[in-house]
Amino acid sequence: MILPAPPSPVLLLDLVAEHAALQPALNAAMQEVLDSAAFIQGPAVGQFAAELGEYLGGAHVVPCANGTDALTLALMSLELPAGAEVIVPAFTYVATLEAAALLGLRPVLVDVLPDTFNIDPAAVEAALTPRTGAVVAVHLFGQCADLETLGAISARHGVALIEDNAQALGATFQLKNGETAEAGTVGAVGTTSFFPSKNLGCLGDGGALLTCDPARAALLRQLANHGQSQKYHHQRIGLNSRLDTLQAALLRVKLRQLPANTAARQAVAARYDAALAGVAGIAIPARDSRSTHVFHQYTIQVRDAGRRDELQHYLKRCGVPTMIYYPLPVHAQPAYAYLGYQAGQFPVAEHLCGAVLSLPIHPLLTVEQQEYVIGRVGAFFGN
Ligand SMILES: *Cc1c(COP(=O)(O)O)cnc(C)c1O
Repeated sequence: MILPAPPSPVLLLDLVAEHAALQPALNAAMQEVLDSAAFIQGPAVGQFAAELGEYLGGAHVVPCANGTDALTLALMSLELPAGAEVIVPAFTYVATLEAAALLGLRPVLVDVLPDTFNIDPAAVEAALTPRTGAVVAVHLFGQCADLETLGAISARHGVALIEDNAQALGATFQLKNGETAEAGTVGAVGTTSFFPSKNLGCLGDGGALLTCDPARAALLRQLANHGQSQKYHHQRIGLNSRLDTLQAALLRVKLRQLPANTAARQAVAARYDAALAGVAGIAIPARDSRSTHVFHQYTIQVRDAGRRDELQHYLKRCGVPTMIYYPLPVHAQPAYAYLGYQAGQFPVAEHLCGAVLSLPIHPLLTVEQQEYVIGRVGAFFGN
């Protein structure tokens, strides 16, 4: 059978084109850092942190080396006893629990909700023990976890809420008290990543911590810089985890583009929603009416999970790249076998790993390219 081809190459992400549009500003930013030779803790680091903080409604931003370090530093700042339990979702990127495991804390997995993919607050409540030190909520694919309920649970039980906000920078959540909360600023600490493919990506590795508490921000700043607030005076055992000046300078340029990029992703998502809602073979991503969605990923569920891989192969042959985030739940990873979980313990996470498929979504995806993707998904299901 002769398969159709896209009008122009469809990419999962087009960083080359995104950067080409910003080329003069990126070049100038790079040159300025080169000329200053202030490669570590140069002025752009503080400037970027202040600008991102302003974008996030006045939060304190502590830059660090990557999103995984941000999670490590967030947990270090809680000063939990060895072996304390950290509740994490079973359906997430591994970094969420890797940080806890590395620190000698015990990751405790809980299942996620089948519609939003985010951590199930009832499962969190059921997993609390006197040893629980923290709950990590991941705002998966760009939509906030239930910050209202998770915030209430963590306050009631005196455990810290950490928000892994690597995928939802700029999303907001409507709280019952009328406040609109920025993702990453509700819990004790929020973390984010500037990995190149994230919604705000740098040109290498980068990350940051977010908090509304100035004392926590000072502690995090110290921990990220060898536990010192004053050079050669080490209050705590810390990390060497700093955002390079060069990356901060580039991020200042890219941050200006973030609101427009988010709006472009949301427009792509709205077109997918409208066109794919009628395809019976799949479920479009569910929206939590209290949260905005910044669509780091547009993730559908194939109703007959047995056909997911077939759909992916078909789309590939038609020139439509897709990804499976994530093919294995964390308890099925060999590195975490020591936690002692069994297959079948987290049925929703396990089901999702077999049923999800993320379609191309990025700010420069054209309507024509998107119509092609929609047409191919529909054709596969005989629409
Ligand atoms: C990307 C990501 C991380 C890790 O960020 P790095 O900068 O790659 O270390 C952590 N958690 C989630 C949910 C992520 O998507």
